[in-house]
Amino acid sequence: MEHKRTYTLKDGREIPRLGQGTWYMGEDRSRRSAEIEALQLGIELGMTLIDTAEMYGEGRAEKLIGEAIRDVPREKLFIVSKVYPHNAGRRNLERSLDASLSRMGIDYLDLYLLHWRGGIPFRETAEEMERMVRAGKIKGWGVSNLDLDDMKELMDTGLGEHCLTDQVLYHLGSRGVEYDLQPWLEQSGISLMAYCPLAEAGLLRQGIMSNEAVVRIAQSHDMTPAQVMLGFLLRKENVIVIPKAGSAKHVRENARAMECVLTEEELRALDTFFPAPDYPTPLDVV
Ligand code: NDP
Repeated sequence: MEHKRTYTLKDGREIPRLGQGTWYMGEDRSRRSAEIEALQLGIELGMTLIDTAEMYGEGRAEKLIGEAIRDVPREKLFIVSKVYPHNAGRRNLERSLDASLSRMGIDYLDLYLLHWRGGIPFRETAEEMERMVRAGKIKGWGVSNLDLDDMKELMDTGLGEHCLTDQVLYHLGSRGVEYDLQPWLEQSGISLMAYCPLAEAGLLRQGIMSNEAVVRIAQSHDMTPAQVMLGFLLRKENVIVIPKAGSAKHVRENARAMECVLTEEELRALDTFFPAPDYPTPLDVV
């Protein structure tokens, strides 16, 4: 048994549910070839969604991706990048987008996201995003780090219905989105792209990878704690998961997480250590 491999976006396109993050990639020269190989292996293993941002290494992550995907047919990939909030208006959005495309050596993005909320009105960003769709430079757009109130405000601009994803922090140790944002997105037909799905290898939640329930469940599936953390998130169909891995070992493990389907009993065991809050909490961020 395995998780469903794709989610159907509101515009009818299929988005892979398991992808690859790239934050901090391309920043250390000595790791460059290992990172390129890791991304290429991930693509071979089906993790064809690659998430990046103009912010990551101020363009160096996008350059590294460009090198990794040089020989991959463009239509096989689903590339997501993000624009800085201060660039997300009439004055700069197209220029930022062109620069991202040129660093990656491609001529369109599959999704372009507003990285977080800044001073530029949502309406202006949405209008620019729509203009880029019409220009053929992006296939669709979304947002990141927006909580429910922000999402509702975006909807009120009249263009919010075109928003295809909200990329937010979500991992087993940080489940605030399950209270209201995730169900609202699901109901609205919007995907939730979970960043930091491994809690940054446990840095964001000390002890998570050695927690007794996580370890026991991992052992019984012949998986690792990291795979259990990814399998846990993949149980909800509108959730897309984008772990970052800089080594072949981690990439292989992450790709196999598609097969980590947890039972109701296992989910209950995880709930006892990592309960979802039953009250509203502000969106977690890094
Ligand atoms: P993750 O939760 O993906 O954790 C990455 C860490 O986990 C790295 O240290 C990696 O090590 C390690 N790791 C990867 N696979 C395994 C494994 N199988 N077993 C054990 N350790 C593993 O954190 P990120 O912060 O990178 O989040 C994922 C992606 O989400 C980012 O790369 C970025 O694309 C996006 N993001 C978006 C944000 C936003 O504001 N929109 C904010 C933060 C992230 P190694 O590299 O050595 O393999």
